[in-house]
Amino acid sequence: MNTLLYVTDLHGQRWKYDLTFSLAREIGADLVINGGDISPSGRRHEDQGRFYREFLDPYFGRFQAEGIRYFLVSGNDDLGILDPLLDRICANHPLVSHLSRRMDSVEGYSFVGMNLVTDYPFRLKDRARRDAEGYVFGPQLGPGLLSTPDGFREIPDWPAYAATLPTIDEELAALPAPPDPGRAVYILHGPPSGLGLDVVRGGAAVGSPATRAFLERSQPLLSLHGHIHESPDESGTWHAKIGRTVCLQPGQSPSGLTVVVCRLDPLTFERKVLPCE
Ligand SMILES: [Zn+2]
Repeated sequence: MNTLLYVTDLHGQRWKYDLTFSLAREIGADLVINGGDISPSGRRHEDQGRFYREFLDPYFGRFQAEGIRYFLVSGNDDLGILDPLLDRICANHPLVSHLSRRMDSVEGYSFVGMNLVTDYPFRLKDRARRDAEGYVFGPQLGPGLLSTPDGFREIPDWPAYAATLPTIDEELAALPAPPDPGRAVYILHGPPSGLGLDVVRGGAAVGSPATRAFLERSQPLLSLHGHIHESPDESGTWHAKIGRTVCLQPGQSPSGLTVVVCRLDPLTFERKVLPCE
């Protein structure tokens, strides 16, 4: 496999999807990876469902027609209740794989994804987890919300509810194990801590210590992250190493399309921000 194109946090912006497709075709990408937060912000059930059915389904058809593989995970802004719909749409296209907590492979490389993130102040908690046992919750913007078929269900005591769920640490340990870490790529929506890949506006670092520890232990070839759009601008860093593992968190520009063009053997990577066409 020669060329991989990584994008993340497109948040339903159709022109960014269209530009990603044009670029993938132009550079002869074999694989496009979408790192999550795929659907429109605002988190309305009907908006996200319509985006999947009316835009993403035919969009995936374009990759299928071009013979380009497409791997994606969902993110914390993609409603959990719509996961079965997303699965059905992906299943319409044999070259498309939904890798949230799953593994697929291409030419001897394994790709493993995860859509869960360390807890945050925002109310939608479908993907939020304690990072590890003993996790201390930060301030919250209001009672938690979970998506259901009938709209949102309020969770008045979110920390108590979250204590009943597995931690990020446990969720990572439960992921499918790639046969050869040296040929494994993880797509983990939330970034690891301590590398400058997790810095929010104002300078606080909010990444996951459990994710960092997991990457230290498992030592894949590459890990791909997103979630904190502004982090590269805040920290001046978008790539880092944990032992042999290269970690990329390109962020996402509010005004352009941020992408990473990557080759796996030998490993090279280049970040670009393309202007709106
Ligand atoms: Zn996110």
